[in-house]
Amino acid sequence: MKVAVQAVPADAAVISELLSPWNVTFTEPEDADVSIVYRQKPIEAKSTVIIPSESESFKAWARNNGLKVTIKPGNLVYVPATSYTTLSITPNRQYCYDLPTNPIFDDSTSTDVKPKECTATLKINAVKEFNGIVDATLNPKQAKLHRLFTGLPVPYGLVPARIRNFMMRTECGPENLAICDKLPLDALRYMLSNAIENASGKQMEKKPIFLDNYVCLLTHDVETAQGLQKARFIKKIEEKYDTRSAWFLPSKRYKLNDGAVRELANNGEVGAHDTKHDGKLAHLPKKELVERFSDVKHTLGTIIQQPVEGFRAPILQHNPTILQALNEAGYTYDTSIPAWEPKHPYTMKPHGIGTVYPLTLNGLMEIPLTLPQDHQLLYVLGLKPEEALKIWAVMASVIRDLGGICMFLVHPDYEFGNGNTSYYEELIGAVTEDPQATITLPSRTKTLINEYS
Ligand SMILES: [Zn+2]
Repeated sequence: MKVAVQAVPADAAVISELLSPWNVTFTEPEDADVSIVYRQKPIEAKSTVIIPSESESFKAWARNNGLKVTIKPGNLVYVPATSYTTLSITPNRQYCYDLPTNPIFDDSTSTDVKPKECTATLKINAVKEFNGIVDATLNPKQAKLHRLFTGLPVPYGLVPARIRNFMMRTECGPENLAICDKLPLDALRYMLSNAIENASGKQMEKKPIFLDNYVCLLTHDVETAQGLQKARFIKKIEEKYDTRSAWFLPSKRYKLNDGAVRELANNGEVGAHDTKHDGKLAHLPKKELVERFSDVKHTLGTIIQQPVEGFRAPILQHNPTILQALNEAGYTYDTSIPAWEPKHPYTMKPHGIGTVYPLTLNGLMEIPLTLPQDHQLLYVLGLKPEEALKIWAVMASVIRDLGGICMFLVHPDYEFGNGNTSYYEELIGAVTEDPQATITLPSRTKTLINEYS
C-alpha cells in the first residue's frame, strides 16, 4: 500500500509507527493509494483517511462536508482486527458526527464514517491517543509501596520474598486474563488500517514476519547464583527440543560463573539485567544509568566474547531516561515493558503498553514482554504452574492470530526451574511443535522485520 501522510514530522512518525506491522510505502500524495491527513487541509481529489483533531483545518473540513462534530468522553470501542479477533479501546475522547442527509454516507462500521466514497474518518484522534498511551506507560504514577521498598538504604531484594509476594498478591479471575481488551495501542493500529482499506478499496498486507508465522521469543532473567545453576537444566531441555532462548543476567548481584554464562550464550543470547539489580533504575539520573548499562554490557561482553545487544530492567522498570541511557550505552533493543501485566510492582496496578508488536521508543527498539511473566501468574495471581501454562496458551493463541510477537519470561529461580522441570518441558514441547511459530532470539527481531520490508 502506498500511503502519503499529511502531518507535521512528529505526528507523521506516530502514524508510521501505528502502521509498522503492515507493508506500507510512504510516498508523495500524487503517487499514493491513500492520503492520511492529520491537522491539515485534505487534498479533496484523493482517497483520504481523516484523523480528527481540534485543529482549525479539521473543523473547516467538517463544515465543508456538512458534518456537525461533537466531542464526547470516550466509551468502549470495538475494532475488528482479524476474522477471529476483535480488539477494544476506551479512548479519552470520541468524535461524533451528525450525519448529513447524503445517500452515499456510510456508517456501517463502528470505527469510521464515510462522507464520500473515498474518505474514511476516524472517530478517535489516533495520534493523540497513541501519545497518551505511550506517555502513561513510560511515566506511570509510582505506588507508595514501591517507593517505600526501593527507597530503602538496602537493595529491595533484602525484603523477604514472602513479604514482597504478599504485598503483590491480587485477585484476578480467568475472565480478566483475556488479552483482546488489553491491547489499546493495537486497537488504534487496526482502526487506522481498516480505515485505509475502506478509503482505498484495497487490502492492507502485513509484513511477512507478522503474517504467515508468528515470532516466538523465549527469555529468562537469572536472579541468583542458584538460578544460574538451574538455568543449565533449562538450557538442556531447550537443546533437547533443538530450540534456543535469551538469558538476561545482572553483572554484580552474584558472582558470575564464566563457564555457565558462556554455555548460555552458546546457540543462545546473553543480555544485560542491570548491574546490582537493586530496583533503583527508575530514580537514577541518565549519567549514572549510562555508566551502569555500559558496565554490565562490557562485563558480560568480555565473558561471552560477543557484543551484548539487549537489556531487560529488573522488575521491568522503564521510563524515557532509561531508554535514552540504553541508546547511549549502545544497546540495540530493550525488552522491559510489558504489553500488560495484572499488577506492576511500580504502580501496584495493571500496567502495560498495549501492543504485541515491537515499536520504536526514544530511538530504541522496544520488544514488549507480550505475555505476563511467570512471576505475575504464579506469585501475584497465585496460579499453579499447570494453570499458568493454560493461561499462556489462551493468550498466545490471540497473539498468534494477530501475527504478533509471543514473548515468554520464565525465571530459572522460580517454579518452572525448580527440581521438576516437566512444566517447562511441556511449554517448550507445545511451542516447538507449532509449525507457525518461528522461535528466534530477540536480537534477531529487527533483522527479521527489515529483511522482509
Ligand atoms: Zn530480575
